[in-house]
Amino acid sequence: MLLGVHCSIRGGLQNAFREATSLGIDTFQIFTKNQRQWKEKTVDSEEKSIFLDRFKNSNVKMIFSHAPYLINLASGNASIWKKSVHALIGEIQRCHELGLVFSVLHPGSAKGLSAEDGITNIIKALKRVLSATKNVMVKILLENTAGQGSSIGYRFEHLRKIMDEVDSKRIGVCFDTCHAFAAGYYMRTKTGFEATIEKLDSIVGLEHLHAIHLNDSKGELDSKLDRHEHIGKGKLGLEPFRQIMRRFPHIPKVIETPKEDKTDAVNLEILRKLSRV
Ligand SMILES: [Zn+2]
Ligand SMILES: [Zn+2]
Repeated sequence: MLLGVHCSIRGGLQNAFREATSLGIDTFQIFTKNQRQWKEKTVDSEEKSIFLDRFKNSNVKMIFSHAPYLINLASGNASIWKKSVHALIGEIQRCHELGLVFSVLHPGSAKGLSAEDGITNIIKALKRVLSATKNVMVKILLENTAGQGSSIGYRFEHLRKIMDEVDSKRIGVCFDTCHAFAAGYYMRTKTGFEATIEKLDSIVGLEHLHAIHLNDSKGELDSKLDRHEHIGKGKLGLEPFRQIMRRFPHIPKVIETPKEDKTDAVNLEILRKLSRV
């Protein structure tokens, strides 16, 4: 059913498979390096062969990355913008080496700029990243955001504008339930959920939806708060998750809720049940 979690890479990339095996999942998301640092990292041949070997011998069907949070393609600061472009190129190359199909990216924060100028910077950056990695297939998935601060991507129209201008088959979308709700898309009920997905379809196009982040929300509707809560324990409740589990079995779905003891296993069990009943 392509259901998993964000796995930890503490102690090495290959350790993600240990977590995946213990949770019995068939897809997961990882950071491909320490995501709090700018320092670049290339995947060495030993690391690569161990990772690919574990992948082959696991039940995991699809793995993807979340790009480092430091990356800000919207930035009006030339040095941060350049570092961000460079870091995303590195991320795409690591994904390619490791057999990851795409990298999920927060479009960026337009601090001190208008949203339009921020979006212009993102478009320019993505074009540069795609042309610097034109021999690889790895896609970049723009994630909808909660709208905290000056972040871009809390309206589906932002994602559409970026996709239109970049105009590449390698750009897609990742839908985060918590972010959408916090950004003002009402999804607590079946009707609300369906209306939101219809909007996503008419503005972005569901054919560009390649991943889903399953997170309940600590923040209220339109709170612009990016605070993930365990499945069914937040302001979203179970209904949108039931809908997603039934409607999108073919799209990889991962949980990104706080990892306390056994919470991943509990959340996964809730989702599996929702898909069955
Ligand atoms: Zn994210
Ligand atoms: Zn997310």
